[in-house]
Amino acid sequence: MSDCIFCRIIAGQIPASMVYQDEHVVAFKDIHPKASVHVLVVPRKHIATLADAEAVDQSLLGHMMLALPKVAQSQGLDTGFRTVLNTGHGGGQEVFHMHFHVLGGKALPFTV
Ligand code: 5GP
Ligand code: ZN
Repeated sequence: MSDCIFCRIIAGQIPASMVYQDEHVVAFKDIHPKASVHVLVVPRKHIATLADAEAVDQSLLGHMMLALPKVAQSQGLDTGFRTVLNTGHGGGQEVFHMHFHVLGGKALPFTV
């Protein structure tokens, strides 16, 4: 989608600090990090929110989940990491191209 900021990052039209890429997923540093490591893991396919994902997306969602520890390890998060997925306005989502947040390092800012 041409008006989606994450689609534009995936297309190389907007710069981002990429940390991981594969056939289905990209990961780049959050522009306003909320922890010492804060990376966004984003499917190349535009899916607005988790609530918009369909049965055809099942393997993509699994692929994204399996990418999370790879991304965390690439950032040196050897002792673990936190994953956040905001869904919809009620879930605090601001960019409507679904994505996981991977957070870790010193002093995570909140607990669940
Ligand atoms: P959400 O609230 O939708 O779950 O999270 C969106 C995240 O995207 C926020 O943490 C925000 O800082 C990040 N973000 C928004 N615009 C950009 C951008 O242009 N580049 C990067 N790298 N991150 C962005
Ligand atoms: Zn998009």
